[in-house]
Amino acid sequence: MLSSWNKIRVAPQEHRAGVFGLGLSGRAMALHLKRLGYTVVGFDEKGSKFKEELEKENIQCALGDISEQALRDLDVLFLSPGVDPRKGVFADFVAQGKPICGELELFAANSKPTIAVTGTNGKSTTVALAAHLISELGYKGFAGGNYGQPLVDWLDDGAKDDVVVAELSSFQLETSYRFQPEVAVVLNVSPDHGDRYDTFADYVAAKRTLVENIGEADYAILNADCEQTRRMADVCPGHILWFGSDANSMPGPGFVTTDNRLLPVNGFDALPELEVSSASLKGEHNMQNAAAACLACSLMPLEVEDLSERLSKGLSSFSGLPHRMELLGEYAGVEYYNDSKATNDHAASVALKAMTRPTILLVGGVSKSGGYKHLREALDAKTRKVLAFGESRQEFADAFAGRADVKLCETLQEAVALAQEEACAGDAVLLAPACSSFDEFSNYVARGDFFREEVKKIAQERDKDE
Ligand code: ADP
Repeated sequence: MLSSWNKIRVAPQEHRAGVFGLGLSGRAMALHLKRLGYTVVGFDEKGSKFKEELEKENIQCALGDISEQALRDLDVLFLSPGVDPRKGVFADFVAQGKPICGELELFAANSKPTIAVTGTNGKSTTVALAAHLISELGYKGFAGGNYGQPLVDWLDDGAKDDVVVAELSSFQLETSYRFQPEVAVVLNVSPDHGDRYDTFADYVAAKRTLVENIGEADYAILNADCEQTRRMADVCPGHILWFGSDANSMPGPGFVTTDNRLLPVNGFDALPELEVSSASLKGEHNMQNAAAACLACSLMPLEVEDLSERLSKGLSSFSGLPHRMELLGEYAGVEYYNDSKATNDHAASVALKAMTRPTILLVGGVSKSGGYKHLREALDAKTRKVLAFGESRQEFADAFAGRADVKLCETLQEAVALAQEEACAGDAVLLAPACSSFDEFSNYVARGDFFREEVKKIAQERDKDE
């Protein structure tokens, strides 16, 4: 695969590239390839809002059903992250020995120092935090990739920032061969995206690509608490720094996270002990994100005199991202947290563990394969009630039987109303659904926005009563 792609790169003008999937990322790849000199054809089975713009740039767009025949004249195919390279329509193309790539193959040409972040959970938070820390250090950090602006779009925009912090999904990594960031962070790997991967091992392998491909002088930053990321050390050609919660099981230098502090261990001396004081970095999982972000930033080739003071300042001024442990407010003594982005079992379990008050937990939506093992284990005496809503509500009642008081609600709206009724002063209400949102909402953002509005109504009713 790699060698044929290298041949293709020699004279782009003579080659025809196909871009499959014409959303934001596909649009960016098509325009970038055009600029490199390729003849470009775009494909999308569903249609594309960028058709007109692309056709103006002489990029032919083929929308609707796509046959193997339509791909026959192409020399190389670039897939958007949402497109599975194992799709039947590509079989013939692959059988001819032609390369299938993705955006990272084009981004490999980037020369700015790069931190690449992957993992099942915590990517966006870590990317946003690392970019925030870079700005505290007095430089400009570009946060993009799966989060925000597509990477090649940034390249075409002039690549003006000093450091790239790229959020990468397993889908993007599946078609990455030559992308070598200076720092590769793998936060954790737990079951997710069962709809795309036949086995968990396939999903882990996609994430592992990031570490396998780095150079000998580069760094991987790995989670010592996660079995899957620990194993990645075996295939890492570069240096490794670690973060984890237990000093005794840290395989090498890095940060141990404890009580809102990052403690250097095993000879790691690039940074002193750091305090994580931002209220937006609530919970042990956010300590891990903070540790990974600080380790990564300390490895960037930037001239900074008072590195540790500036990082500390950044760890207190970070304002967090919406829909991730977002405190919506405290009404009648009850705190409301929006963690709508907790779309899987593991994410929801860490959110629940982060709660310090007695908590009413709202879960539900469209269940993902993999069950609710972690969340079941995280249920404790602090969990006053579980309100399960939407399509998967009965699954939660079954999974938590004997562990929690579960009440069933048809919709999220019903669950919020019941939560308000049940909550006492001193409690917290947490939306951490452990599910996709598609039975009621278009995505996790729409679900979180809806929750925010419902909570606002609670606040307004309260104001009226007073
Ligand atoms: P991603 O971009 O990987 O989806 P986010 O930063 O958007 O990650 O966080 C998604 C959810 O995952 C959060 O709402 C939180 O519940 C959970 N989470 C965040 N960081 C971690 C972590 N380090 N480990 C496990 N779960 C996490």
